[in-house]
Amino acid sequence: MDMKKVFDYIETLRPEMLDTLGELVSCPSFRSEPEEGAPFGPAARKCLDKALEICGGLGFKTNNVGGYAGTASFTDGESVLGILAHLDIVPAGDGWTREPYQTTVEDGLVYGRGTMDDKGPAVSVIYAMKALKDLGVPLKSGFELILGTDEECGSSDLRYFMEHEKMPKWLFTPDASYPLINIEKGRIAAHFSASAESESLISLHGGKTVNAVPASASCELRRSEKISVKALTSAISTLGISAKFSVCENGELIKISVEGVSAHASTPDFGDNALTALIKLLAAVIPDDPAGKLLCGLNITFPYRETDGESAGVKACDEISGALTLAFSILDYENGRFDGAADIRFPVCESVGSLSEKLGAALRKIGFEPDIGGVEPHCVPSDSPFVGKLLDAYETVTHKKGECLAIGGGTYVHGIPGGVAFGCEVEGIDNRIHGADEFIGIDALIENAKIFAQAIVNVCG
Ligand SMILES: [Zn+2]
Repeated sequence: MDMKKVFDYIETLRPEMLDTLGELVSCPSFRSEPEEGAPFGPAARKCLDKALEICGGLGFKTNNVGGYAGTASFTDGESVLGILAHLDIVPAGDGWTREPYQTTVEDGLVYGRGTMDDKGPAVSVIYAMKALKDLGVPLKSGFELILGTDEECGSSDLRYFMEHEKMPKWLFTPDASYPLINIEKGRIAAHFSASAESESLISLHGGKTVNAVPASASCELRRSEKISVKALTSAISTLGISAKFSVCENGELIKISVEGVSAHASTPDFGDNALTALIKLLAAVIPDDPAGKLLCGLNITFPYRETDGESAGVKACDEISGALTLAFSILDYENGRFDGAADIRFPVCESVGSLSEKLGAALRKIGFEPDIGGVEPHCVPSDSPFVGKLLDAYETVTHKKGECLAIGGGTYVHGIPGGVAFGCEVEGIDNRIHGADEFIGIDALIENAKIFAQAIVNVCG
């Protein structure tokens, strides 16, 4: 098949693609209260109906899977390839300078919530399919587009889909980055708690979500001979900490605040952990206090600036997936009780069971009761023929080198056998996914459609 014809045809579909993207963006399809037939709320259901209606209008067979997901295809028989995109979004949030729930075209970019994550990529798949169908490109095996509606809130759409439909043997999701992600590290969320009365520490708070390095932390201490603004300021100056401390006095209380730098838990090196910085200070200032002793244990097990888990006894690394990362993400102390959490992303050489055991032992040793859970790593071999066909499609269209990536985060296909992530973010461009003024380039929308058309031909042709 002469793919140039297909690519040229896709170029002519720009106006239709922009219209379709506009229609999908106009549904604020973030999760809301379920209703009959709308498990993730009426807006998500409306967006699914709209997408399937558009697909039907282009001549594809469509199937609504219980309002959880939908499929569209123009091939007969069983699908060996599935392309999995999602229509749900996160709410707009603050800071937009354009309308979030309608598309705005400006200087070759389309703005709007979901343009990049993941409605734009879904539109590129739909028009890749239209091009192949309209030009009568011969395909030997079947494929389908699968549209989910709960990617952002736990992927229960896929669990429902797999209970009611057959998942194709090969699957890719255009919901991450190019070139291709074949390894997603495993994840551990560790919660831990301990009780200790304290003469000095009144309260402590740092971090809100398990999967982020906390940018700020604070605590209140009771003023005493040893605990004064002067003593604390002098202690801070000897710690060698880059996070910024401020100490202020309010009657009998001294409040310490720390400002660091936030980062996603899968890349803790990019952050400056305000919480472990505060723990380091308190371990130096109140080492003999009962709460202080527990903080000393945390300071030894999860030292400031250490992100490889070495001191917690969980350090691990392998060639295909890289090193384990550990982010100490939450600690609260209130009414004599500590509650904390840490997030670990681990390579394929490790497992949830073995790491839970090691981390649990480390936590018990310093007086904390652990509650640890996790998911195993996800891996599709980089030398599988399916991966090779996708990378070939990427190279053919972009003329860039295709390669496999391992990441610490999880994508839509985590845990689905044979699934990889393929597109659509590219290095060096911040499409502001989940942020204000999210956008996709119109040229990228077209290029993605060409890559997907080539991928479908490579796998099914
Ligand atoms: Zn997404």
